[in-house]
Amino acid sequence: MGVDAEYGRLVIEVALLPALSDNYIWLLHDAEAGHTAVVDPGDGAVALKGAAERGWTIDQVMVTHWHPDHTAGIPAVVAATRAKVWGPEAERDKFPGLDHGLADGDGVEVGGAQARVWHVPGHTLGHIAFILDGHAFVGDTLFAGGCGRLFEGTPAQMHASLQRLATLPDETIVYPAHEYSLSNYRFLAAQAPDDAAVQRRLGEIEALRSDGKPTLPTTIAEEKASNLFMRAPDAAEFARLRAAKDSFR
Ligand SMILES: [Zn+2]
Repeated sequence: MGVDAEYGRLVIEVALLPALSDNYIWLLHDAEAGHTAVVDPGDGAVALKGAAERGWTIDQVMVTHWHPDHTAGIPAVVAATRAKVWGPEAERDKFPGLDHGLADGDGVEVGGAQARVWHVPGHTLGHIAFILDGHAFVGDTLFAGGCGRLFEGTPAQMHASLQRLATLPDETIVYPAHEYSLSNYRFLAAQAPDDAAVQRRLGEIEALRSDGKPTLPTTIAEEKASNLFMRAPDAAEFARLRAAKDSFR
């Protein structure tokens, strides 16, 4: 599956690679520059095979946070391609192979495009997102209908991170790292059984999953409409929702 999107004069193609049990690894390809980046290669073999099948060669690794299901494949990718690794400086000691440490506000060239780095703590304390014009690679911060668990950060931090992502243009395409959409919307539908946007989205997600299709990427507009975590008006309501989701079965 691919998503073509204009980025200025360039066309960046984004490919989705299912990996591990429910991870997605995203590839960004700039044909004009002959450049391919991989985001969060939790499985190196999947990333390398996915690129090779498209005739692409990975030369850049982009890491959102240190968790092994996002980073364990880095050594294999680097060994095969000599790609350089960009990721959160604050988590340098927690994952292998970081060449270029990043902090909020830094810029990263991705082919002919420029990504901006946003620090979006909550799931981990050093978690970053890569923001390109029209595209946001958000790791485990924002999911379709959900958000990451608070392994290291506070509800207030995650609420602020989601609210910051909500300031992106509505049409921004959002690339989370997990296929959690169905369980997320089942939870949201239980929380808000009369919410039309949640019910509509649950129906769309159920149809996609019963066809075996990915539900991602999503958009900022969709998450602002139907993701109660993103709609939470304050950190207290966000914290209540997050705690309820953590114990939802
Ligand atoms: Zn994670």
